[in-house]
Amino acid sequence: MAAEQTEPGEALVGPTLVVGAGQAGISLVTALRELGDDQPVVLVGDEPESPYERPPLSKTYLRGEHDRASLHFRDSGWFAEHGVELLTGEAVVDIERGPTGGRAVTSAGRRVDFTRLALTTGAANRSLPVEGAQLEGLHSVRTLADADRLAPELRTAGHVVVIGGGFIGLEVAADARAEGASVTVVEAAERVLGRAVTATLSDFVREAHERRGTRILLGANVVRLTGRGGRVTGVTLADGTELRADVVVVGIGAVPRTELADQLGLAVDPAGIVVDEHARTSDGLTVAAGDCAVGPNPFGRGLPGPTRLESVPHATDQARAAAATLAGQPTAYAAVPWFWSDQADLRLQMAGLPQGADHEVVRGDVAAERFSVLSYRNGLLLAVESVGSSADYLAVKRALEKGMTIAADAAADSTVPLKRLISRPVDTRSS
Ligand SMILES: Cc1cc2nc3c(=O)[nH]c(=O)nc-3n(C[C@H](O)[C@H](O)[C@H](O)COP(=O)(O)OP(=O)(O)OC[C@H]3O[C@@H](n4cnc5c(N)ncnc54)[C@H](O)[C@@H]3O)c2cc1C
Repeated sequence: MAAEQTEPGEALVGPTLVVGAGQAGISLVTALRELGDDQPVVLVGDEPESPYERPPLSKTYLRGEHDRASLHFRDSGWFAEHGVELLTGEAVVDIERGPTGGRAVTSAGRRVDFTRLALTTGAANRSLPVEGAQLEGLHSVRTLADADRLAPELRTAGHVVVIGGGFIGLEVAADARAEGASVTVVEAAERVLGRAVTATLSDFVREAHERRGTRILLGANVVRLTGRGGRVTGVTLADGTELRADVVVVGIGAVPRTELADQLGLAVDPAGIVVDEHARTSDGLTVAAGDCAVGPNPFGRGLPGPTRLESVPHATDQARAAAATLAGQPTAYAAVPWFWSDQADLRLQMAGLPQGADHEVVRGDVAAERFSVLSYRNGLLLAVESVGSSADYLAVKRALEKGMTIAADAAADSTVPLKRLISRPVDTRSS
């Protein structure tokens, strides 16, 4: 079952090629083996690392609280034992396929022949299109190498400016504040965390950061970075405000990596490689999963229409659906999305998707930083956002996974555990 070792330039007949050795790539390969598929796999990743988890990069790892080796999903023995040839530090740069297979070429000049193909190429951080963006001291966080570069600078920086008030930006801001820096978050929109969360949670998060000493500027646009001797010293905003900065971290979102899908002539839209509920791309043969893909909303109660979720659970679940398709055992991808974010001493946990809600219930104590927001549409539970309230989060996640609901009027009473209120939804269409 072991795939043959090859030298650059040598041909390799690998029945399954997985491009992108990240969360979705390793999940797909693992799922193939769990499904009993024993065809050799070649897993190609352009980073020098074997697959590792990204969430700690903006949290515990950045703060020096997480051991580097423990970020990796598998040790080298696992790949050999499972018939997976892992190629690291090599990008697939050229690819073509027909109905029975194809051929890829890596940046090292290695050729990989395949019969089945999966694209798990992830996303790349959006770069800041302003003057001064090449200065030293400017960072973004996506890879382990990025975090390794940023961590020592954060430890000694007096003034840190974070551009972008999304999850990653706010996590890094909290880390920088914990290191004692003076921190300013510059957000172009009128709220932090964009439309991913309710306005209630967004307002709370902004105020919680402000209470911890972080300055947050909303509706603020960066026009220039200034520097001295090639290193950043400040950030200039459109209204003329000058912010002092020893370190600038840019977290303004990510763009799906679709170059190979374009080469293959697959359907691609600005949100990613278009897939169906089986993670199948438009050629009906290649699969794609994770941050690079956009597909039908997997959440039954979510708004219909194409959805691209950037999260570990999504990458894992969609990759499992992709593996099932490759193994000839297609199973539609359906799941309740969930997500977490650690910001300073705050733990945010979310399940479901609140978009399209027409009613919300806040239970718990917002001032004490222990509360949950439950979102509803037509009386049906859609989502929960919890701060320091894991029991609420777990109860709602479980209810959603079982197709159940929690009555809104009862949910507001925080003396009653939510798990006791889970009930069958009333069919509002017949009333
Ligand atoms: C700093 C940070 C913090 C995060 N925190 C959380 C969190 O708290 N909770 C959560 O749920 N999610 C979090 N996420 C999101 C989560 O990590 C991603 O959604 C997930 O990693 C997506 O998996 P993926 O496999 O699609 O992409 P990735 O994990 O990015 O893997 C894609 C890989 O493919 C490689 N690649 C691309 N093109 C090629 C090519 N042509 N040839 C070879 N290799 C290629 C890329 O370099 C990359 O290594 C975080 C992300 C980041 C960056």
